[in-house]
Amino acid sequence: MLIKRNAISIGEAVQKVMSDIEKGVTEKVTLVEASDRYLAEDIVANQDVPAFDRSLYDGYAIRSEDTKNATNAYPVELEVVGHIGAGAVFHNGIQPYQAVRIMTGAEMPEGCNAVIMLEHVKELTKFDKDYIAVDRFISEHERVFKKGQEIQKGTYLVEKGTRITPGIIALLATFGYSEVLVGKKPVVGVLATGSELLEIDEPLVPGKIRNSNSYMLMSQIEKVGAQPKYLGKLEDDLDKSFEVIRNELENVDILITTGGVSVGDYDYLPEIYDRLGATVFFNKIAMRPGSVTTVAKLGRQFLFGLSGNPSASFIGFELFVRPVIRTMLNNKEPYLASQKAILENSYPTPNAFAQLIRTKIENHNSTVCATSTGLNMSSSITSLVGADALVVLPPTESGYEKGEIVDILLLSDEGQEDFSVV
Ligand code: AMP
Ligand code: MG
Repeated sequence: MLIKRNAISIGEAVQKVMSDIEKGVTEKVTLVEASDRYLAEDIVANQDVPAFDRSLYDGYAIRSEDTKNATNAYPVELEVVGHIGAGAVFHNGIQPYQAVRIMTGAEMPEGCNAVIMLEHVKELTKFDKDYIAVDRFISEHERVFKKGQEIQKGTYLVEKGTRITPGIIALLATFGYSEVLVGKKPVVGVLATGSELLEIDEPLVPGKIRNSNSYMLMSQIEKVGAQPKYLGKLEDDLDKSFEVIRNELENVDILITTGGVSVGDYDYLPEIYDRLGATVFFNKIAMRPGSVTTVAKLGRQFLFGLSGNPSASFIGFELFVRPVIRTMLNNKEPYLASQKAILENSYPTPNAFAQLIRTKIENHNSTVCATSTGLNMSSSITSLVGADALVVLPPTESGYEKGEIVDILLLSDEGQEDFSVV
């Protein structure tokens, strides 16, 4: 089937894809299962933290006013009338010039308003009673963590759509969440096309290659927070492929195919979209690699037709599939984070399309430098290894020189959490 293809810019393509995305469904999971899932509810403090005034140190809970005349020369002596560890509560009130021995984290006895550390007092016994000698003024609230000092009840803490990190787990546990509402992982089916493809455990035979894309994509899907579903591979056979795709659409939320989306003799995806009655948003993007990347929708369901070339397929996923999945999970930062970097290589060839170069980024004297990770071809697999960013080179007539400042897209979320802490 002959289709006239108009290349659109990456930005336009992203906009089309992102224009209408249905949020995914939610589910409750136990806190133990919640790591790296995406919150589907805002986290609001249901209590003060701390919930009571707590001692910050092992020491003595005292009344600040009792120490107002204490000096090195004239220490004040306080009678020790009790002893509490963390978790214990001192129920008797205290009188002026009395103290309670207290351990870190224990609730301050009523009437006490400061703590003096064990190592800052002299302990003494007189007539079978214990005393401490305090030789300086201890101001009110000293070494006390006040009720609500860290978090006040009712405070909005984390917005829904945020990935659950260990810190958020701690917060949820503090607030007594044994279960938490998260976005259900969208099921993303991966179907490789191409009569040249072998399974990864098959020996190589002439003319064939192993299906690496499916496994790469499943790893990307998992990393981004969705559930990959391996759907095998298809021979380049229009009718059979159509049947499989039509059936598999019943079992997945999103379908990714690789290969067969170009204009070659055996590229049947365009015809399949047509037969399905899917709406094709675009089938050509002014980018390299991945210019044939196609996105279509059947009802609410996305069909991503990624190139068969590994680097193109990888990039197509990061630019288009990733933000859709993250948006379904309510995440407010669905795109790869971008920043500026200095080119460590030159790209002298003019190019009418934007180029996405797999690079490694390094900090040299607090400037970020982007070095190519290898072969800049859409078929390259090795350049994906060690790549932690994509350099974006807009269309150019003159090329780019080493030392120029360019935009890069970071491939990892690590260290720059997509937090939405309110
Ligand atoms: P296509 O987009 O079908 O024309 O494929 C483009 C190139 O990618 C061809 O050289 C294919 O052999 C290769 N290719 C296609 N599918 C895969 C795959 N699943 N894994 C690795 N390479 C592939
Ligand atoms: Mg093919």
